[in-house]
Amino acid sequence: MSAQSVTSLPLAHWQRELAQAVSDPARLLQMLELPPSLLSASRLAAAGFSLRVPRGYVARMRKGDAYDPLLRQVLPVAEEAVETAGFRFDAVGDLGAMPVPGVLHKYQGRALLVATGACAIHCRYCFRRHFPYAEANPAQEGWSAALDYIAADSSLREVILSGGDPLSLSDTRLSALSGALQSIAHVKTLRIHTRLPIVLPERVDDALLGWLAASRLRPVMVVHANHAHEIDAAVRHALGRLVATGVVLFNQSVLLAGVNDSVQALAALSEALFDAGVTPYYLHLLDRVQGTAHFEVDEARARDLMHGLRACLPGYLVPRLVREQEGMPFKLVLA
Ligand SMILES: *Cc1c(COP(=O)(O)O)cnc(C)c1O
Ligand code: SF4
Repeated sequence: MSAQSVTSLPLAHWQRELAQAVSDPARLLQMLELPPSLLSASRLAAAGFSLRVPRGYVARMRKGDAYDPLLRQVLPVAEEAVETAGFRFDAVGDLGAMPVPGVLHKYQGRALLVATGACAIHCRYCFRRHFPYAEANPAQEGWSAALDYIAADSSLREVILSGGDPLSLSDTRLSALSGALQSIAHVKTLRIHTRLPIVLPERVDDALLGWLAASRLRPVMVVHANHAHEIDAAVRHALGRLVATGVVLFNQSVLLAGVNDSVQALAALSEALFDAGVTPYYLHLLDRVQGTAHFEVDEARARDLMHGLRACLPGYLVPRLVREQEGMPFKLVLA
């Protein structure tokens, strides 16, 4: 299909909603009835990494609360300009594990495809805020270098679409990619790492479910929610449709100061996830990238929180506390 005919397709509902995402800090503060005194710091921080948040996600925030746990994840703040020793620009050694542009192959049997640099939301703590997406774009030449790499290594059983957020790509492109992957016989599982079902549940529509259901690949989705307030009725509905389509659902969170660094918040998150058909998988310690130090929870405190969680939840609702460690053959499980 030519680029011309792709762009002339009518936009899906979720794409129209995405185009309406809030990107002006003044508008966000106004929607939440917050004082304009927060604006100048926010504008400054947004110049380095822009504000982006879907309106439906804003609607889940409490009005008048500058410390709302959802707002903290997206509002650009002055602390982002603080330079902190020990915080780097390439936090997880990604650039060293890229055999061809956009493919990260760190772990046995699994290759991760940086499918796009785009996201529906900009999370201030994101470890990819400094990632050179322009140099790592596997979509150039129709994914051919990435697909050739995966086809040439028969130890690869699982392909992980990540990013950015892979579900910010159109279903036309995703179903073409999934089709190419399923023609590689040794690939059995297609895993999608995405925050879209949480931040823009309209993304889970008939077109997405259609190509997922049609694929021979076993579908796994790892969503990304950090707080129980993110999971409202629309999100539960979207996750329920994925489960009904046979998608196995897990969640990964990041442990974030001022967002979810209490036993009560983490337990409520696990219960809300379970209620929506999702199993808690990983709780990540923050990757130490510049501009995110104000979100850090230290390891001792994180272990205490895990202890508290184990004391109040069934074992299957306790995520694994992990840290990305360069050069290890797996993610380091701390508790
Ligand atoms: C996290 C990650 C994976 C997946 O690891 P699992 O432990 O299987 O969830 C795969 N590849 C890369 C590069 C990763 O960072
Ligand atoms: S959706 Fe994921 S990749 Fe995108 S900004 Fe948020 S944490 Fe980062």
